[in-house]
Amino acid sequence: MAAHQEKKLAAERKHKNLQNDTKASQGQWGRAWEVDWFSLASILFLLMFAPLMVYYFIMCCDQYWCSLTDPLLGLLMGNKHLSDIWNKTPTLTYRAAGIYSLWVTFQVVLNVFIPDFCSTFLPGYVGGVQEGAVTPAGVVNKYEINGLQAWIITHVLWFANAYCFHVFSPTIIFDNWIPLLWCANILGYAVSTFAMIKGYFFPTNAKDCKFTGNFFYDYMMGIEFNPRIGKWFDFKLFFNGRPGIVAWTLINLSYAAKQQELYGEVTNSMILVNVLQGIYVLDFFWNEAWYLKTIDICHDHFGWYLGWGDCVWLPYLYTLQGLYLVYHPVQLCTAHAIGILTLGLLGYYIFRVTNHQKDLFRRTNGNCKIWGKKPQYIECSYVSVGGTKYYSKLLTSGFWGWARHFNYTGDLMGSLAYCLACGFQHILPYFYIVYMTILLTHRCLRDEHRCLSKYGKDWKRYTAAVPYRLLPGIF
Ligand code: NDP
Repeated sequence: MAAHQEKKLAAERKHKNLQNDTKASQGQWGRAWEVDWFSLASILFLLMFAPLMVYYFIMCCDQYWCSLTDPLLGLLMGNKHLSDIWNKTPTLTYRAAGIYSLWVTFQVVLNVFIPDFCSTFLPGYVGGVQEGAVTPAGVVNKYEINGLQAWIITHVLWFANAYCFHVFSPTIIFDNWIPLLWCANILGYAVSTFAMIKGYFFPTNAKDCKFTGNFFYDYMMGIEFNPRIGKWFDFKLFFNGRPGIVAWTLINLSYAAKQQELYGEVTNSMILVNVLQGIYVLDFFWNEAWYLKTIDICHDHFGWYLGWGDCVWLPYLYTLQGLYLVYHPVQLCTAHAIGILTLGLLGYYIFRVTNHQKDLFRRTNGNCKIWGKKPQYIECSYVSVGGTKYYSKLLTSGFWGWARHFNYTGDLMGSLAYCLACGFQHILPYFYIVYMTILLTHRCLRDEHRCLSKYGKDWKRYTAAVPYRLLPGIF
């Protein structure tokens, strides 16, 4: 009898906690309503310089054998003019426009018209119609999770073409890399501009729109929370996953094919980059339903930051290692290659297990085992915008007892492994680890600021119990 009552109480508590999470979050998430001068300055800086930066990196590979300093030194010493560099830059071509249009259309078709079938035969895979987190306006969107099959179909076709049909060369992406950059930019700007107009005139959910009154901030950070066309075409899920992440592994394959064509072999460093980044990409699609609960989907609005970022920044800068290896085919000694593989796999293991531990702990309300034991946690409370007090839990065992963001640490270890595979001749391939360190450290500080204002003294108890953020004993 007592056990039955306890079960009932636990179920009620769980239900209450879920409601609590929902209500409180409505007051906490989403982007700012007001713009301070620092945010505005950062946004203007990014709007102006991020596209130039992408161009600069790709141009350095194309014209300067991946040296980041040579073009700058040439310009500073007067040996080169901007016009020399620009005149040598490939322009937009009909061929690239055709390839890009076909590619995006194909991904739209896979996204909208082919419902998930992977969940029918892959044990443990969660696909099909899934619910996202509640939005600030209290809407729970439904998503068709079918990214894994889109990835599989695209790659099967890619290999079928490379080995059987020979309709196009497997080096097609590399061979058109700069003309494709112009296409990606056109789509990135078009989709961000469309999203802005849509936010004003025909939003999917007017209550989830945010206007700051500052044109640049709204353009960059987005107005609509979850812009959609029709029932299933969701801008955030599509642009991040499809032109962005499905393309990532294809781009790497194209680089490997180029190495084969140029040097008659694919180096072990290129194989390492393809394998380690391939695991990361596959993990993303295997856990696409979990992605619905991350900051990108739960907090960010859809503007230039996500629209242009997914079309241009992600495919061009996340794949710099493979591009570099086409120009510098590094062959690693066995010990170096094993060291990198171990670091990459260890990083991935930490990333995945840490994310899984939190997910399991929150899903079961603590009724689970972490590393074979009952989880340890700190009971915490927070007050919603309506003034009601609610309860939640912060896990302090497993990897969450080592550091407060050990999932980021794993991600950074993996990122470092990709860079180390490129040897030590140039800094260009190391851009990724520098960028990820800034991104995840900033994210960590932003998240902790939010958690402190949400949990107050309970968050302080948690930080006293788990004193480090990323590296136990150091930071
Ligand atoms: P997390 O998955 O770490 O989620 C942070 C939230 O988890 C907090 O706001 C808090 O939310 C809750 N939380 C914090 N501590 C605890 C705890 N001890 N126990 C239970 N819940 C806790 O963050 P992200 O969504 O940023 O990242 C998800 C993954 O995506 C990471 O592994 C990251 O590395 C990766 N990533 C990769 C990027 C890339 O470009 N490659 C970019 C960004 C992320 P609450 O309010 O519910 O308590």
